[in-house]
Amino acid sequence: MSTEQQLISEKACWRCKETVHPTITEWCPNCGAYNSKKKPKTPEQKQAEQEEKIRKLLSGEIEGQYFDRKFCIIDGVKMTYDEYHSPEFQKKLDKKRFAAMSKARASKMKEARAKGTHTKKEWMALVEEFEHRCLRCGNVPEDGLTKDHIKIIARGGSDAIDNIQPLCRQCNSAQEQFNWVEWRRESGFGLGTNCFCWMRRIS
Ligand SMILES: [Zn+2]
Ligand SMILES: [Zn+2]
Ligand SMILES: [Zn+2]
Repeated sequence: MSTEQQLISEKACWRCKETVHPTITEWCPNCGAYNSKKKPKTPEQKQAEQEEKIRKLLSGEIEGQYFDRKFCIIDGVKMTYDEYHSPEFQKKLDKKRFAAMSKARASKMKEARAKGTHTKKEWMALVEEFEHRCLRCGNVPEDGLTKDHIKIIARGGSDAIDNIQPLCRQCNSAQEQFNWVEWRRESGFGLGTNCFCWMRRIS
């Protein structure tokens, strides 16, 4: 069935009961209420669609994840929640997430280098300029300074010397962790697991 056929030529607005033409407008011209263009799906239709999605996920026709109250499908494998929460599987998931993040990081670094690079000499001069101190805590760390990108690379910062500041390991890692959490949130990577435990909690 085409989208065209799914459209209803006219119906009553659910709120003001005026006749509206959902093919022309989704918003009732009379009261402003939202009227869907499509016919509402019946529970049978919804279930059929869900079953179709599960079938496609399991056969590898489509990629994606599926969660419901009883089980989930990840990478084409159906598993129970206990299986999902097993340390072995969580370890596997962590590995996958780490690989995805490393890949994203590497591609961002490439972009950063395209915007600007720095030499070892420039870096040493910068360290000298600030008397080997960390710009955040002011200490002179025994294990040396690390390069911190002022505008972080994940957000489009360059690798040129004017975007680099010397920080001690402690200050840099404290900051970096925060940056990546932020970046994950902004880029839609999400935080932590995709687990839908809350679904079970409310069921
Ligand atoms: Zn209306
Ligand atoms: Zn420091
Ligand atoms: Zn969980």
